[in-house]
Amino acid sequence: MKKSGCNQHLFIDGYYSKKLVALSLKCMHEISLVRNIIRTLEETFPEKIEKLSRIYLQVGILSNVQPILMQNAFEAVLLDEPRYNNSSLHVEVLPVLIYCDACDKDTEVLNYTFVCTCGKPSKNIVQGLEMMINKVEFEEQ
Ligand SMILES: [Zn+2]
Repeated sequence: MKKSGCNQHLFIDGYYSKKLVALSLKCMHEISLVRNIIRTLEETFPEKIEKLSRIYLQVGILSNVQPILMQNAFEAVLLDEPRYNNSSLHVEVLPVLIYCDACDKDTEVLNYTFVCTCGKPSKNIVQGLEMMINKVEFEEQ
């Protein structure tokens, strides 16, 4: 199980709601991911970062990262960092692939069935756990 690194608590109008806290923690997890992505891009492209236009992410189905929450988090981070208001986030979801050493090939996992097309079970996940920056676009001069 992946640890989100979120340990903040949220109190709304003096009421402590488990449901609200759970939602906010989930969201904070995504917000910290978005902040990390932006910090990474700032470090990688210091000359061009002002012209940031599009960020393309790839997230595996098993990565515990949800595209809609990433979009919401991105909007929230832009409120804090308006210099990136002209940029957008695009999230592509990657299916889970397992590797079968009997066939020496990868097979897509459907319905959480970790079995190769040859019938052999495999827990050797080669795709589906990752979250990565796939491509970044900057505005032309
Ligand atoms: Zn196989």
